[in-house]
This record gives sequence, C-alpha cells and structure tokens, in this order.
Amino acid sequence: MDNWLLCDFHIHTNISDGSLKVSEVVDLYGQYGFDVIAITDHAFDSVFLKKLRERGNKVSCVSRENFREYMDIPKREQERAWKEYKMILIPGYEITNNTDYYHIVALDVQEYIDPSFEVIKILRMIKECGGISIAAHPLKKNSDNKYLSRHLYENINIYKDMFDAWEIANQFDLYNEIIEKRCRFVGNSDFHHIKHFYSWKTLIKAEKDPEAIKYAIRRNDNIAITFLKPHTNKKEIKILEEASENAK
Ligand code: ZN
Ligand code: ZN
Repeated sequence: MDNWLLCDFHIHTNISDGSLKVSEVVDLYGQYGFDVIAITDHAFDSVFLKKLRERGNKVSCVSRENFREYMDIPKREQERAWKEYKMILIPGYEITNNTDYYHIVALDVQEYIDPSFEVIKILRMIKECGGISIAAHPLKKNSDNKYLSRHLYENINIYKDMFDAWEIANQFDLYNEIIEKRCRFVGNSDFHHIKHFYSWKTLIKAEKDPEAIKYAIRRNDNIAITFLKPHTNKKEIKILEEASENAK
C-alpha cells in the first residue's frame, strides 16, 4: 500500500533569492520528516536581467552559464537527503519571466530553458525532457500590486491542461478562482526564508520514488493540499531553533 507523502515542490535557496544553502534546506525539511522536496531557484528572462544589472543590482540566479553546476549541487545533496532522511530531492528551477509575467516551475529538467521563450515553447521543452511543469502562483502580487504570473492567469483557458499542475495554494495564499477551474493542482511554500516554512504543501499518495511521484502529479489523483501548522515540538528541528535564536 502506498502512503501519503508530504511534499514541497517549490523551494528557493541562496543560489537565487533564498536565505538558506541547499544543505540547510535539506536538513530543515529532512528533520521535519518531509518525503519529497524540490529545489527551484530562479532563472530570469534576459530583458529583466538586463534591467536589474543596469540598476546596479548584484544578481544571483540560475543561468545558461552556471546551469550544469547548479544541477550538480542538488545531485550531491540528493544522495545525502536519501541517506540521512529517506527524503527524495528533485532538482528543478523556476523559469521566471518578469517582462511578460509568467513563472513556471520546471522539475527534473536536465536542460536549460530560456525564460524569454514563449510559454507554449517552454511547456513543450519541459515535456520533451520528461519533466514536470507547474504554473506558479497564478494570483500572487508583487510589491507594485501587480500579478507576477498574470499572463498565465489571463490565459488560463488556453493553458489549463497544458501544465502538469497549477499552484492552487502558494505560501500563505489559497486561490479559490483556480480551484474552481478544476485544474490539476499542487500546493507549495515558495520557500525563501524560514518564515515561509509553515505554509501550504502537497500530499500525494504514491510510491516513494521520483518517477512514481512525477506520474502521480501528472495523473493528479490521490492528491491533496495541506497547511503546515507550527510544529508543537519544534526544538527537534535544530535549524528552526537556531533561526529563532538569531532573530532575538
Ligand atoms: Zn515565482
Ligand atoms: Zn518561487
């Protein structure tokens, strides 16, 4: 009999704009008892990147240049996650287009896909690589009150079945309008900092095996979202304890 697996398919690290190292993320989620996590740092479209650099921002992200190196870190941590915690780590990245506004989480895609490509081309490439495509936070707003993935939401009737899944829940938000569309779904933390740990997650009933999990997302049967409440015995989790000590 397959068990319900506790999963988070959308996690950032200090390779892009998150605050923890990959190894710290593995320890945090592993010590809590997660079954499956995905590391999904940002890759940005070229127009947005250029803008950031012109403003003098130092940009840390996944790029064509560092892609192989980026994918190798999860591989190293993948083995440790399994050995120490019996937790599966799926390598991925967030194809982040902040010019035309679409964020797409790509899981288990071993090829760099340029975020400047159109959505349909990106989805086709993810599929050809045997990966999973997730429409990220279709109703999340940025600091200017604009929807970060508005292109996906505005064209949901076109893209609905092209994605393997839509985030109906992201971080602390629940998107009723997406639930009503009856899309295949997941719920993720979009983890950047410790404060995002207690948030939406996915439960999947499947064998604890990467291909079985990918199949279960696509099939989207025996799937649920769950909101993680702060652990009553969080002292067990060293990294959370240290973070709260540092915050004092
Ligand atoms: Zn995003
Ligand atoms: Zn994200």
